[in-house]
Amino acid sequence: MADCTHDCSTCASSCSTRSKSSFIKPPHEESHIRRVIAVASGKGGVGKSLVTSLLAVRAKAMGYRVGILDADVTGPSIPKAFGARARATGSEKAIYPVTTKSGIKLISMNSLLEHEDDPVVWRGSLIAGAALQFWTDVVWGDLDMLFIDMPPGTGDVPLTVFQSIPLSGAVIVTTPQELVEMIVKKAVNMANMMNVPILGFAENMSYFTCPDCGKRAEIFGESKVEALKATYGVPASARIPVSPALTELVSAGRVEEATTDELAAIFSEIERSREIEKW
Ligand code: ADP
Ligand code: MG
Repeated sequence: MADCTHDCSTCASSCSTRSKSSFIKPPHEESHIRRVIAVASGKGGVGKSLVTSLLAVRAKAMGYRVGILDADVTGPSIPKAFGARARATGSEKAIYPVTTKSGIKLISMNSLLEHEDDPVVWRGSLIAGAALQFWTDVVWGDLDMLFIDMPPGTGDVPLTVFQSIPLSGAVIVTTPQELVEMIVKKAVNMANMMNVPILGFAENMSYFTCPDCGKRAEIFGESKVEALKATYGVPASARIPVSPALTELVSAGRVEEATTDELAAIFSEIERSREIEKW
């Protein structure tokens, strides 16, 4: 086009040079991040924050330099799980993340609020804007892996985040409950639309092991994760049990002490995932 300004974000034309990544925003100039992993789910309350936390804990234990971006602006729960009560500091130009006991850097709406139980009652565009600022304005420094606890669902806010932050891949969290196929399909479609590879399905609350007899009971229904993995040709899966010990660690702000072996296969895919562009 003769009048092309090369700014696809303000142009509706679908010409041949239109870039798929035209909405992608660069990170802060002092952030050098190799891999960015989105942890998403088709709906809330399935254990997305738990899976994000466990993946980050595993990465840190393996010696990687790790960050967590809590993009769930209206339901931030990451700082609590890590017992990270410190407030993030900042200037006009930059926000500095909080550091957890084991040395994971994190940023969350909760790290900025005066009182951590203050509700965030904002319109969608403001919420998405805050999540994106955690990408563009936070000084992450050098990171091997940044995990993003995505806003739940497949609405405007997760869509904006998905299309604005460059991603190595996504991990989708599910549960064995009914209707999960439809919900997962929406999340898969969102990732596909954005050209983001799905690295694994993590089925949370997959079973419960009886503390007396050691037998596994599928209390929320039969596991569906292997079938989903085959249907969508996703390389890895995980089954995370319902664990009272885990609930306790999360409530006590000690998620860094949790075991993460269930996530080994998905984690290997993360290690192999594509690196993001260098700015
Ligand atoms: P989401 O981020 O999807 O809304 P969370 O990760 O915050 O969900 O999980 C919701 C609640 O359920 C949290 O209090 C969490 O500690 C608890 N929980 C999640 N998964 C498990 C599990 N497998 N075993 C025990 N408690 C869990
Ligand atoms: Mg959450």
